Amino acid sequence: MGRHTEAVCRLCRREREKLYLKGDRCFSDKCGIVRHAYPPGEHGQGRQKFSEYGQQLREKQKARRIYGVMERQFRRYFKESDRRKGVTGEILLQLLESRLDNMVFRMGLARSRSEARQLVNHGHFEVNGRKVDIASYLTKAGDLVAVREKSKGKPVFKLIAEAREQQGTGEWLDVNHEKLEGRVIRLPLREEIDVPVSEHLIVELYSR
Ligand code: SF4
Repeated sequence: MGRHTEAVCRLCRREREKLYLKGDRCFSDKCGIVRHAYPPGEHGQGRQKFSEYGQQLREKQKARRIYGVMERQFRRYFKESDRRKGVTGEILLQLLESRLDNMVFRMGLARSRSEARQLVNHGHFEVNGRKVDIASYLTKAGDLVAVREKSKGKPVFKLIAEAREQQGTGEWLDVNHEKLEGRVIRLPLREEIDVPVSEHLIVELYSR
């Protein structure tokens, strides 16, 4: 499966804002944006002015980076959200939010979406009692996401528990951290999705 291999802090610097891709580090003064608040590269400190297309493109790239989704899959999410009834941009964000790796992160069972993706890929999670090791698996209202019984003793979940206070859980989730599980009550509303993305620009980009 394809994934970003560029040093992740460079991705935040490219967007000139924190995308919170690295867990604990994002809340410390080691954060790449805190240390270098300008885009990487030779011309990173120069003036940057984006065309309308450039702004739309940056917004889409930002969303892809936050959720760790490759272009082809992102486009599929757009097509699906465009097909469904409702506000396309909002449905797009809801689809991204319903990915299993994102849900694991939102539930506080991982420190970052990339860590959540890795833990899911390594088979540490189940949905409704069945092992699911596909990070892009789309959860729905009523689903119970849990760390598998045999994985609960792994040291990584202790480290995650220690870091958890930095990160709240969404109101659309019912999480039991003692049991390392959470239920998806419903999908989040737009105002509950705290990602710094102007989704209408993404819709405009793909509608060109
Ligand atoms: Fe982005 Fe986190 Fe790196 Fe800061 S530490 S630049 S928020 S990934």
